Amino acid sequence: MTRILFPQGRRQYGEDGSGPRRGSNLKMRLIIAAVLVAFALFSYYGRPEDENQITGESQRVALNEEADEVQMGLQAVPEVAAQFGGADPDPQAQAMVERVGNRLLQALDDSLEPGGRTNPYRDAFRFTLLGDQKTVNAFALPGGQIFITRALFRDLQTEGQLAGVLAHEIGHVIERHGNQQMAKQKFFQGLAAAGGVAGGSQQSAQVASQVANMVQMSYGRDAEYESDEWGIRLTTLAGYDPRSMLGVMEVLEQASHGASPPEILSTHPSSPNRIKRIKDLIEKEFPNGVPQGLEK
Ligand SMILES: [Zn+2]
Repeated sequence: MTRILFPQGRRQYGEDGSGPRRGSNLKMRLIIAAVLVAFALFSYYGRPEDENQITGESQRVALNEEADEVQMGLQAVPEVAAQFGGADPDPQAQAMVERVGNRLLQALDDSLEPGGRTNPYRDAFRFTLLGDQKTVNAFALPGGQIFITRALFRDLQTEGQLAGVLAHEIGHVIERHGNQQMAKQKFFQGLAAAGGVAGGSQQSAQVASQVANMVQMSYGRDAEYESDEWGIRLTTLAGYDPRSMLGVMEVLEQASHGASPPEILSTHPSSPNRIKRIKDLIEKEFPNGVPQGLEK
């Protein structure tokens, strides 16, 4: 093999003061390429799975530290807010969104306490009403920044429906769907490998825009189903009627005609399937019927 690659004999690199030979150059490049491929695979599959502090499940994530997730989400806030009209100026509506969001978080805390678990994002959660009156949407940034647009807020008929929307988004945060998505994307893999999110300002700007784009897309069918389950669970725990989730689906369905579907109504699971699934979950949770007296 040496002869074929190096027909001139067995001179070693540097022996005669010359640079590396073409053959060994090629070999070195192949080795480097192999190392890079191995590294790329390692940085996804080789990352240790991380235990979700709320669910106890093992997950493959880009950022193991919840504090890094929170920081990354915060970096994307200005860009997301600017895209949807900034914070809504109505203090009463804003206060309502915060109140309902916090009621859901309190219910989550109460449910975790007996199992000795805590919500690692508790203090980072923020619920913000955005002023956009045309785009019907709601979404969550990694780490707990949750947004709902005025256009969706306006279409909702009950507080329970608002709770359903926010609980679905809380589901995305605590299941770390954004973080899992990041683990699959090369950009974030490189970033995590390079040592985290606290880079220079140019890097921060890039991170912000990548995260902002990511949250407006679907995390996929399974993630949406998982968040719907949290929607049902958290609304019920907080004393809302879980059938409010069905009302939310109707509102979203109507809003999505002729437009691109909002994040919360992603195109995969088609919505009739999703509505059926929500009904099945509610039946499973309450085989004898949903209790009376829950808030609509
Ligand atoms: Zn969603």
